[in-house]
Amino acid sequence: MKIKQIQQLIEPPPSHMVGDGFKVHNFFPQAVGDQTRMSPFFLLDYGAKFNFSPTNNPRGVGVHPHRGFETVTISYKGGVAHHDSYGNKGIISEGDVQWMTAASGILHKEYHESEYSKKGGPFQMVQIWVNLPAKHKMTNPKYQALQNKDLANYFLPDNKSRVEVIAGNFKGTKGPAFTFSPIEMYNLHLNKESTISFDLPEHYNTSILVIEGSVIVNDIETVLTDHLILFKNEGEQISIKALTNCIILVLSGEPINEPIAASGPFLMNTKQELVQAYEDFNAGKFGYLEA
Ligand code: MN
Repeated sequence: MKIKQIQQLIEPPPSHMVGDGFKVHNFFPQAVGDQTRMSPFFLLDYGAKFNFSPTNNPRGVGVHPHRGFETVTISYKGGVAHHDSYGNKGIISEGDVQWMTAASGILHKEYHESEYSKKGGPFQMVQIWVNLPAKHKMTNPKYQALQNKDLANYFLPDNKSRVEVIAGNFKGTKGPAFTFSPIEMYNLHLNKESTISFDLPEHYNTSILVIEGSVIVNDIETVLTDHLILFKNEGEQISIKALTNCIILVLSGEPINEPIAASGPFLMNTKQELVQAYEDFNAGKFGYLEA
């Protein structure tokens, strides 16, 4: 196998607030600067570790729509309470993953979980927008609440480091998430000094985000906490050496080679479909969700 070549080491771009609860660094499309470079992943908002003060009024983002894609929320610290217009609700606690297929349209709200809010303290999360192939954009919404115990684990021979498989297949260990296009999504939990190597197809768009700790990638690039590596579509093999105990998010997927029309909370293929999305939203066709 050929080594997967590194295109770019990306520092966390300046953060912005989503509502009053999510202080995020937008790695893509913003920092990468191209809406399709990481397709099928359209957006990566990374809430680096941040200490929120205690409050009895949970921070977050109120009722808003989505259409044409999926939101994947991973909690690393703190918890997120979620409600949507299809009646789904739940708490994304530390280590949990929520995979929401907005598809034809949904309203939802995302707030800090109330117990966490009362205590305050470190909060760290990721939200990824996964594009849907055109033929699935208008299918029914769907909701996968993947608790940490539901995720599959591949243990390294040292039996201390492990790969938590959310989606895809890591050396025979299959993740529980259903996906509409081929996607590999893992959290590597590596102990200091351990090394791991794995292959991802050359044509898959691939990046890794260091959530905690620091690593050396492909024996050449030192990557610190909150930094992202974007790989070229060249070569397959990635090797990672942990300099400290660390957590690394791996995102890799087969590109969806279709036109993109993106505006606010909608991700469609054409401008006309965006206009339709706003019309349908304004006409109340996304259902109802109490504020
Ligand atoms: Mn949302």
